[in-house]
Amino acid sequence: MDQAGLETFEQFVNGAERSIRGDKIRIMFNMGVPMLVEAHLQRGSALDHSNLLVFQDSTPQSDAIFGGRIRVSTGLVDAIMNDPLDPYGTVYADVAANLVGDLDSSWRLFVPFGWILLHEFVHGMHQHSEAERRAKKIIAPNLESQATERDADLVAVAMVYRHLQRLSWHFRLNIEDDCLRSIIYLYLHRLLAHIPTEQSGSHPPAAVRLFHLFAKLVTLAVVPGELPDVGVERQETKDRSARMHSLVRMPCWDVRGWSHENIEHDFPSPIIAQWEAMKDDVGDLSAQLIHDIKSARES
Ligand SMILES: [Zn+2]
Repeated sequence: MDQAGLETFEQFVNGAERSIRGDKIRIMFNMGVPMLVEAHLQRGSALDHSNLLVFQDSTPQSDAIFGGRIRVSTGLVDAIMNDPLDPYGTVYADVAANLVGDLDSSWRLFVPFGWILLHEFVHGMHQHSEAERRAKKIIAPNLESQATERDADLVAVAMVYRHLQRLSWHFRLNIEDDCLRSIIYLYLHRLLAHIPTEQSGSHPPAAVRLFHLFAKLVTLAVVPGELPDVGVERQETKDRSARMHSLVRMPCWDVRGWSHENIEHDFPSPIIAQWEAMKDDVGDLSAQLIHDIKSARES
């Protein structure tokens, strides 16, 4: 790893100038990192801030490396702030104002940033690289990597939803639940539109990621701890799907024939099949990790 231009989040934020850009950086980091702190607390570990790093690179990217380190590029920070390629800018601003009003100016910065940090956290928490190594390859190369990427995307978006749900209850923000879910989707839509599609195929295509993210946001239960309605069996889930579709008002995936009845069934993704074959291993590996963290703390 090139150490030049590598800074901790703290150094990067402290070095941010007094300007609109600097203010945006402070909002993004100071409100995004607490989501990661919360995730660590829930697992029983403590976040080591020296593991959070920014590196100089204009390509928007992030990664998780061994020992719980998370790196994000300056290009990613800029992409979240500048939104230079947003083809839906006007529609988006209109919809966002409708959904969350003034909150949008800070949420659009820290929500996608927090999701990225949590995505990388889940890779570590679920021991994805070990799970991929153990996986029986079902169909195509890269599929086990796409399956773990999907897991990281979905667990992270559920954590983001719970975080914003708590914020909105705590500060009495009066945001309707459908609006909350829809705005999270829109922020991730904007983000994924800016991340270049990598050639290696280790991630699912952006349209597929967005499809799964939308499905996850539709099916999560309102009450924390309750199981998601994955099969879209409850009437409230069907209604929510229809409402979120009309709230989001944006083309988002290249999948035809989608409707709220067949959210999972009609999208027989080989990624899901691969995940089904891996998820027990992931469960065992993450349980083992939590056990190890607990024993290390007690010894
Ligand atoms: Zn990833």
